[in-house]
Amino acid sequence: MQFILGLRSKGITDARVLKAMESIPREAFLEPTFQPRAYADTPLPIACGQTISQPSVVATMTIALELTPRCKVLEIGTGSGYQAAILSRLSRRVYTVERHRPLARLAAKRLEALDLANVTVITGDGSLGLPAQSPFDRILLTAASEDPPANLLAQLRPGGIMVLPVGQSDMLQTLIKIEKTDTGIEYSELGEVRFVPLLEGIAEDIA
Ligand code: SAH
Repeated sequence: MQFILGLRSKGITDARVLKAMESIPREAFLEPTFQPRAYADTPLPIACGQTISQPSVVATMTIALELTPRCKVLEIGTGSGYQAAILSRLSRRVYTVERHRPLARLAAKRLEALDLANVTVITGDGSLGLPAQSPFDRILLTAASEDPPANLLAQLRPGGIMVLPVGQSDMLQTLIKIEKTDTGIEYSELGEVRFVPLLEGIAEDIA
């Protein structure tokens, strides 16, 4: 509850998103060492040198997606699986793609343990999107690219929304929201964020 009050104090008021976040234990997506800090509004390290995003950033991105219970959603950058868990509470179907196989496996296990059966975790290069399941109503990138990847934009349904951090790696990036209309594309900026870069190819992790 302190967690939700903390998010509220940062100006996050969307009741549906707060309820979804209240229903998902963030500590379940962390290694034991970091579990005591699960409800602080901070990013934390996860396996493979990656990070679980800051809760207020998770909330901001989720709100920007304007999810409905009919949405088919694609997330690129599964990481811990926490963001995917939140998305799963607010949409019909979630596909999430991760380039590190160990992270994808662990995330799938955690999501299953929480009975979140509408999420599918895929090991792959998310910069290619997921053509087999496209088009998507919503697309979320949780890794930064210099420009919105054309592959992903093409897999977004007209009327759809895509949210992503754009900018150079290792620098502050801008969170942007793209709305695909029948006549074109509308952009809006949602503030500054810092994400790991979107890298190409599947990572070669040692088993
Ligand atoms: N959404 C995550 C945090 C994302 S961290 C969470 O809730 O925990 C960003 C993740 O994007 C990292 O795990 C990184 O490995 C992954 N990533 C980077 N480039 C990728 C790509 N091309 N395809 C799939 N995943 C990618």
